Amino acid sequence: MESYAIALLYATPFFIGLVLVEILYGRFVKNQKHNVMDTVSSLSSGLTNVVKDSLGLVLILVSYPFLLEHLALVEINSTWLVWVVAFIALDFAGYWNHRLSHHINFFWNQHVIHHSSEEFNLACALRQPISNLLGYYALLLIPAALLGVPEKVIAILAPIHLFAQFWYHTQHIGKMGWLEYVIVTPSQHRVHHAINKEYIDKNLGQIFCVWDRMFGTFQEELDEVPPQYGVLKPAETWNPIIINFQHLWRLMQDAWRTRNYWDKMRIWFMPTGWRPKDVKIKYPVKIIENVYNFKKYQPETSTALKGYALFQLIMTTMLMLFMFYNYSEIGFDGLLLFGAYIFVGIYGYTTLMDRKSYAVWIEIIRGVAGLALIYMTNDWFGLDGFLPLGSYWVAVYFLITIFGGIYFTFFEKSLISPDLAS
Ligand SMILES: [Zn+2]
Ligand SMILES: [Zn+2]
Repeated sequence: MESYAIALLYATPFFIGLVLVEILYGRFVKNQKHNVMDTVSSLSSGLTNVVKDSLGLVLILVSYPFLLEHLALVEINSTWLVWVVAFIALDFAGYWNHRLSHHINFFWNQHVIHHSSEEFNLACALRQPISNLLGYYALLLIPAALLGVPEKVIAILAPIHLFAQFWYHTQHIGKMGWLEYVIVTPSQHRVHHAINKEYIDKNLGQIFCVWDRMFGTFQEELDEVPPQYGVLKPAETWNPIIINFQHLWRLMQDAWRTRNYWDKMRIWFMPTGWRPKDVKIKYPVKIIENVYNFKKYQPETSTALKGYALFQLIMTTMLMLFMFYNYSEIGFDGLLLFGAYIFVGIYGYTTLMDRKSYAVWIEIIRGVAGLALIYMTNDWFGLDGFLPLGSYWVAVYFLITIFGGIYFTFFEKSLISPDLAS
């Protein structure tokens, strides 16, 4: 896990840098595809994902080394061939996992976060799950195991394969000629993120679009059908942690409420969106019907709150980078505690962005908890060893968090006029 933390230490500034480039480009060509709150929410979602993954919080059902040991039929000796075969096998597994995530209720829960943005830009690529708690992915890598691809090759290629899916989340690149027949392009992936009936659940490929063409899920972007982004049941929150468990929560409620015992069992494995008849009538859920005419989520906000959300995001990112930087020194228990501060932090400030009045309590409690830890340990997870007075600055940050929570809940909210709510 430490090597993953090191990779993220470099990858995070790189991704954030490219998001900034896209924002500046959008400004320059006067075609901005970002809005502050949505982008803060997307980047915060990325932070939750990398913190969770770096801690290895997943229950492995089947591991790749286990399959390799029992299934390998051959051993490929040529080194370059191993890498090529492994990459194709990973992409094939990725296609089927993605297809499973789109089509089965239970699996949709871990993927809905990625589709939850109503914008389409580089930041939305970073909306990655924390609700993928079951490690079954190795099963999809059976072809690689049969071919004897070493575990190390998979471990190196997996993050590269994931990171290579970042660039095509943009509206600034048009169709790409012959490449449209080989790899997934921005145009194809715009179709994938769209909820238009022509586009939904299409283009499930990750790097190569060949799988979509082979298995009948390919759809070209059409001039007459402009993609409309989001999910049919809108998330209606900036809080990525809530979005990660929203669908699961609805399934649990439906399974509990339905009177039909067969439905209680099968709801988990039915097609995405399927609900038992009785609860569907008794507890209707809002679904977007006209994709060309729905109101994007945008609770009332202000320039000050937008600036404050950015400040919170930057501070959380810096704290997380320090967590990765000092990964081995902090130790697992410390990392869990550090991760908890980051999670509660993101929960708190995104709830404040949602203008929920209970946000103030989360902000006060986490602020006090942060100050208490600094007071008790006289440090912030070893920060003072790297940065003189580092823990002092973290304490100032927690103080700002407490006052920010109070200000945006009790003072600014009453000052807001309706025309600011855009
Ligand atoms: Zn998808
Ligand atoms: Zn995507």
